[in-house]
Amino acid sequence: MARIFCIANQKGGVGKTTTCVNLAAGLAAAGQRVLLVDLDPQGNATTGSGLDKRALKKSIYHVLVGLSTVADTRIRAEEAGYDVLPSNRDLAGAEVELVDLERRENRLRDALAPHGNDYDFVLVDCPPSLSLLTLNGLCAAHGVIIPMQCEYYALEGVSDLVNSITKVRANMNRDLTIIGLLRVMFDPRVTLQQQVSAQLEEHFKGKVFQTVIPRNVRLAEAPSHGLPGVVFDRNAKGAQAYMAFAREMIDRIKTS
Ligand code: ADP
Ligand code: MG
Repeated sequence: MARIFCIANQKGGVGKTTTCVNLAAGLAAAGQRVLLVDLDPQGNATTGSGLDKRALKKSIYHVLVGLSTVADTRIRAEEAGYDVLPSNRDLAGAEVELVDLERRENRLRDALAPHGNDYDFVLVDCPPSLSLLTLNGLCAAHGVIIPMQCEYYALEGVSDLVNSITKVRANMNRDLTIIGLLRVMFDPRVTLQQQVSAQLEEHFKGKVFQTVIPRNVRLAEAPSHGLPGVVFDRNAKGAQAYMAFAREMIDRIKTS
């Protein structure tokens, strides 16, 4: 059965999409069958996987409002090595339409339900908000991966997200757990980052992934080539770290 994970953090620019795309490619390179669900109207995970978001006939928007199915909407990202439920600006209007629909928080969960055997991992790239779209991600998922930068305000942001996840678990999705916090864009030369990193380990203990993703320009360059960093330059430090993270995820799944 596919394990479904949301990559979430209500802050923008913290590395959600980079993590989603590179974890997907890392898992695919390790022989896993992966579906990436782009839940952000910005469609960065779609373009970062090598797909043209302006040329989509159907997108995740159509799936969520019931105009299409997962089977008719998913696209193979050939070079990246996984399937994508793509997104573009059409999704920006979905929020308003969803409000009036039945099971509005469970539209993604219901759409994915027939595909449990198609994939080993489903990764959901969430928008930078705690919106109805993100709620659809959280209601569909078994777990949440929280990418974060080791900055002064990071802990505050994470506690808001943890509270929201606790509420979703209590009221809507009893399966939901926090799989872990992933330290990204890490620069070990910055003392503050080391301090926040140590605080995270102390506070969240086993919930902090061992793998740390360094700041690495090759990861930032990759999307403009329509490739995950892991595929664009697999020997770069950032790519190697995301490969290690993919292996850590595979191990976690075995033991959970
Ligand atoms: P989000 O999806 O949370 O908004 P992104 O993944 O789009 O965040 O990342 C924000 C910016 O930071 C992007 O320009 C991305 O290329 C860059 N970035 C992300 N991770 C790294 C990294 N480890 N090293 C260097 N740049 C990174
Ligand atoms: Mg993003």
